[in-house]
Amino acid sequence: MRTKTILITGGAGFIGSHLCESLIAAGHKVICLDNLFSGSRANVAHLFKEKNFSFIKADIVEPVPALGKLGKIDEIYNLACPASPVWYQKDPVQTVRTTVLGTANMLELARKKKAKLLQASTSEVYGDPLEHPQKETYRGNVNPLGERSVYQESKRFGETLSNAFWRAHGIPAKIVRIFHTFGPRLSLNDGRVIPEFMRRCFAGEDLEVIRGGSSVRTFSYISDTIEGAWRVLLLGHPGESYNVGSREEITIDGLAKLFIKIFGGSSRIKFVEENAQKGFATTPQKTIPDLEKIERELGYKSKIPLEAGLFRLKEWYELYGNLSQK
Ligand code: NAD
Repeated sequence: MRTKTILITGGAGFIGSHLCESLIAAGHKVICLDNLFSGSRANVAHLFKEKNFSFIKADIVEPVPALGKLGKIDEIYNLACPASPVWYQKDPVQTVRTTVLGTANMLELARKKKAKLLQASTSEVYGDPLEHPQKETYRGNVNPLGERSVYQESKRFGETLSNAFWRAHGIPAKIVRIFHTFGPRLSLNDGRVIPEFMRRCFAGEDLEVIRGGSSVRTFSYISDTIEGAWRVLLLGHPGESYNVGSREEITIDGLAKLFIKIFGGSSRIKFVEENAQKGFATTPQKTIPDLEKIERELGYKSKIPLEAGLFRLKEWYELYGNLSQK
């Protein structure tokens, strides 16, 4: 396989660090660019000794002179953007600037360098969906003024921009709509349900559940998400979106029971009012990917069952603790 030069924005984050690792392992040159807002140097510290790895601390919203000086870039994975509501609500305006202005900058760079680009989008573009499962053709149900809208609406615009660069300039920009993903290097302070249940189980605290635990989710193990991202960038149609995730549906109540089974500790399920959980009151009721397109067109198949992934993650935290310290 030809050695490629690959830029990964948001490379020091949860998903980005796994992408860096997998592309280095595949023999490519990886440039990891990150402003370390929600990510951490610790996530990629093990890669600094690799001759094919380099790190640039920079913000994709601003000009990055170091990128202009680089020679050829074959591929850009544009992941920069905090994914957890705790983080994207810390600086809502910067969240929008990152996914709108930053994405425009990365698409311009792809144009200059004649690179392929993968835009990391999200199941949140469907908002609180009224159709299940969510097919790529579903247009979503998003409140432009809600507490999640800075993330949802800017990700929708990131898709529009990627599609526009393809139509107007022939830039092979492809879009991956990532559904909830979990795995090593997720910070225990991330706030999303899997790291939050992990943190509480390790601490012997109760697992707080809203809406009687009736919300439905699917959770994709990180290695499956990475494979999906690769497939979309390499094989996907430019200007189009692909869902990536798992077919294994579970209620939040079912997830809490699974944690209690895996940990066997003193944690119990505690039903709480929605407003008791700041920032999560508008969480979608049901997010389930329709995976027919990515499976049929790109040969994707999710491999890691939820329970096996949770066991692996528990073991990882036992070995490494809260590595990123964020
Ligand atoms: P993360 O917060 O761990 O990683 C995001 C990284 O981007 C961080 O390292 C952060 O420091 C960096 N970043 C943020 N703003 C930046 C900027 N302006 N310039 C440079 N770097 C910047 O989140 P993640 O879970 O790894 O998510 C990565 C991407 O995948 C995001 O675009 C997110 O929207 C998308 N996604 C993730 C999930 C998931 O379940 N984790 C689901 C859907 C979509």
